[in-house]
Amino acid sequence: MITLALSKGRIFDETLPLLAAAGIRPLDNSDTSRKLILRTSRRDLRLLIVRASDVPTYVQYGAAELGVAGKDVLLEHGGAGLYQPLDLGIAACRMVVAVPEGFDYAAAVRQGARLRVATKYTQTAREHFAAKGVHVDLIKLYGSMELAPLVGLADAIVDLVSTGHTLSANRLHAVEEIRPISARLIVNQAALKMKRDAIQPLLEELSKAAVIHA
Ligand code: ATP
Ligand code: MG
Repeated sequence: MITLALSKGRIFDETLPLLAAAGIRPLDNSDTSRKLILRTSRRDLRLLIVRASDVPTYVQYGAAELGVAGKDVLLEHGGAGLYQPLDLGIAACRMVVAVPEGFDYAAAVRQGARLRVATKYTQTAREHFAAKGVHVDLIKLYGSMELAPLVGLADAIVDLVSTGHTLSANRLHAVEEIRPISARLIVNQAALKMKRDAIQPLLEELSKAAVIHA
């Protein structure tokens, strides 16, 4: 049995067509089922539904051989014990620095001010500002980052944007792109060695599907 961990929502929705191209479909309706383990049309493959940020943990410890996780999540996790052989090109967005309209970010950075930055992505943010030599106080949040600058909790946020609608609805705008983000297939390193015969063909099929869908 091979187990693939992934999160509900956009990752699940955008992984389904890739699985379908490889001839794999879930047997349970994931919209209505509350099951966290879904059987698939392939008897030796099952899906685990976990929190997006928990996917690397399940795969790292071998509770799932495979997973689909955003690069944002992988950067925060650190990637220990994981191969990241395939950029699936799905759930694409950008990790950016955003500030309120009227906040002079360039001047703040130029003057060597100490920025207060609220984010869920403290690892990535720390590295980004360290590389620029900008002093930051990082404030860890778990969601709704857009709120922080509006109520004086932070000067800036580091967050994911796709359309930018959420930013503009809250009178924020992106001032810096940190990196593009997309979802990767991840593989437990030990499992790839032990179960290569089962895993390798699946990797190849998903790789073909990802290219076609790109
Ligand atoms: P949770 O809801 O469990 O706290 P999450 O908010 O990260 O986690 P999703 O919103 O389902 O979960 O996002 C899953 C992944 O989708 C993210 O890790 C990221 O890689 C990707 N993604 C793509 N576009 C966006 C976007 N506009 N905002 C947030 N995530 C996005
Ligand atoms: Mg979410």
